[in-house]
Amino acid sequence: MSDSAQDNIQWYAQTLRDWFLKHGRKLPWREAPTPYEVWVSELMLQQTQVVTVLPYYARWLERFPTVEALARADISEVLQLWAGLGYYRRARFLHEGAQIITQQFGGNFPTDIKELKKIRGIGSYTAGAIASFAFHQNTAAIDGNVERVMARFFGISGDLSRGKTRQALEATANAVAACGHASDTNQAMMDLGTSACAKIAHCESCPLSQRCFALKHGLTESLPEKKTPPQKSQEFRACLILTEPDGNCLIARRRSDLLLGGLWEFPMITLSKDSPDPEAAVRLPRHHLWDAALSNIPQHWKYSGHQVSHIFTHIKMTVLIDTAHCESLAPLLKLQTETYDAFDTASLKDLADTHAISTLMKKLARAATARQPQPKLPI
Ligand code: SF4
Repeated sequence: MSDSAQDNIQWYAQTLRDWFLKHGRKLPWREAPTPYEVWVSELMLQQTQVVTVLPYYARWLERFPTVEALARADISEVLQLWAGLGYYRRARFLHEGAQIITQQFGGNFPTDIKELKKIRGIGSYTAGAIASFAFHQNTAAIDGNVERVMARFFGISGDLSRGKTRQALEATANAVAACGHASDTNQAMMDLGTSACAKIAHCESCPLSQRCFALKHGLTESLPEKKTPPQKSQEFRACLILTEPDGNCLIARRRSDLLLGGLWEFPMITLSKDSPDPEAAVRLPRHHLWDAALSNIPQHWKYSGHQVSHIFTHIKMTVLIDTAHCESLAPLLKLQTETYDAFDTASLKDLADTHAISTLMKKLARAATARQPQPKLPI
């Protein structure tokens, strides 16, 4: 590395640190955090805004103050505490990781990055965050915000996720971390990436503007280079709200290896997945599908006219709500299917308090209790 490049990196690291000490966000997981606290906060913050995470983080640490407490907990309670944050795989990773740390490392997080990365759910970024924030090691932690600030300041073009461009980014991030106080410089980049150097840059309030490559060359809008987002696929499902005379309805727990595994929902069937004519699949009569799925017990069927849409990372899902009544749900509670490993009954009103459910399920329960039917799909 040339002297001027090294000088630029030194200036960058020093400027970031000075700025961070004055303007860095005060967050509960930044006050002398333990590795456990960094790990929990970083997993919660993936794909989720700070303001949303704050109450979840407080509740989590109150219930699971240590990695041992989390390891001992039942997964259903873990998922229930996570309910509403989305991306439930993260809660599973925390639970499984806590058990590994307790059983294999005596409850102590390994300090070596390579060892940290062996724990389920801890990738390069999270390992770097734990090592720099909790162990004060001078190591890089590169998330999307760090990528954006560095690509713009140093003028790194190309696909930041692969090949030589990735190597250049990591080499530069490691050189910045090696300047010292990596905990501060890493967090400074994260804060700048959500403020002055957000997707739309506000360079007038940025401490790095004096030497920023993108600003100097008019490239703030084109760096980092945009990746083409993957197309969202469209999926139609139907759920069944099957109630018995006391008003309780049937719910089922998804098998742990499936999307939303371990969470409870109204039984669902898939109507169409990337079908060239999804409306046709939705129009087909589906009584026989429910009969097949739920062992052919006598029920009075009705299409409610309600539907709910929900966006997952790569899927736009629309769920039609069917309703039916039966004399007793008891015979169904012993069922096990390819999708569900347990069945239970619950009142629609208390569902979110008694069972771990997803945001989609909350939407479905709300729609099911709404008075006004939504426009009917052709069926
Ligand atoms: S000067 Fe502008 S583009 Fe450069 S790092 Fe700061 S906010 Fe980002």
